[in-house]
Amino acid sequence: MTLLPVDPLPEREVRVRAPGKVNLSLRVGPVAEDGYHPIVTVFQAVSVFEEVVATPSSGRTVSVDGPQSELVPTDGSNLALRAVELIAERTGVDEGVHLHISKGVPVAGGMAGGSADGAAALLACDALWHTGLSRDELVALAAELGSDVPFALAGHTAVGSGRGHLLTPALCRGEFHWAFAVQDGGLAAGAVYAERDRLVEARGAAHRLPAADEDTDVLDPDEDVALMQALRAGDPHALGAALRNDLEDAALSLAPGLAEVLAVAQDAGSLGAVVSGSGPTVAALARSRQHALVIAAAFTAAGVAERVLTASAPVAGARIVSAE
Ligand code: ATP
Repeated sequence: MTLLPVDPLPEREVRVRAPGKVNLSLRVGPVAEDGYHPIVTVFQAVSVFEEVVATPSSGRTVSVDGPQSELVPTDGSNLALRAVELIAERTGVDEGVHLHISKGVPVAGGMAGGSADGAAALLACDALWHTGLSRDELVALAAELGSDVPFALAGHTAVGSGRGHLLTPALCRGEFHWAFAVQDGGLAAGAVYAERDRLVEARGAAHRLPAADEDTDVLDPDEDVALMQALRAGDPHALGAALRNDLEDAALSLAPGLAEVLAVAQDAGSLGAVVSGSGPTVAALARSRQHALVIAAAFTAAGVAERVLTASAPVAGARIVSAE
């Protein structure tokens, strides 16, 4: 009997790049009945990227390389694999895929690296499987995966409300330059929100369930007027002065060493420095690309960061880099 050669799986791959983010402003309302904190945030996508390569495979698997990759789960809890399962289920696709993630964004660093992987995986599978989803359909799946995933698809600069997933593009002129101080130990976003609740309660501030139709001042979009003007004008000095993060006190309470990181940024002439999202990465706004390198060198010299990054912003959201 002659054995016929088994056809190898076609050698195709789709390569997608997706950016991390910094929150220029993050305002947090009182916890709602569903347990979530409503937020209003201004996201900016920065040139620190995740790369996800999708290839056909018999199963659905993920591998990871890059800094801190040992901290990333490779089981079904990986956000990129959850994206694979979601798009397969909704489109009725029964195929396998292997995803290889090269991490550029810090893990559990408040820069939404996992969300970038989720957004990249949606785009990659849609292209690999020729499912032809519309932009709106992809955004809807992204919102199911997590609050920061729609922004990883959209990129640029945008205002997020609800849990951060309802996006409105923000006008932004010019290019901004950032330096980031990255820490080895991440902070879990849930723990930072819980610490914020504890601090708010300890201060005796009103801490009650808001009525559905009740507006809270902190979530009033007018609160960010100065910041939006700075973005429209492309004015980094005004932007530096307008940075705000309501989770910063809680992140500092859980990781007190971050106060020194912020002080080093200030001493290095940063136009403004803020904990990124739920931290512990500190983002420092620079006057120029060169100045960002100076601030990064100051972080290193002071020994306050495990790793430093510099980036420009805003950049586009998740994009297919190549499909062959
Ligand atoms: P956010 O700012 O959205 O809270 P983050 O940037 O602080 O996110 P991530 O790196 O996105 O944090 O991931 C947080 C946790 O999620 C990690 O500690 C890890 O256990 C888990 N995780 C799941 N999938 C991924 C992924 N693809 N990359 C990184 N972490 C992932």
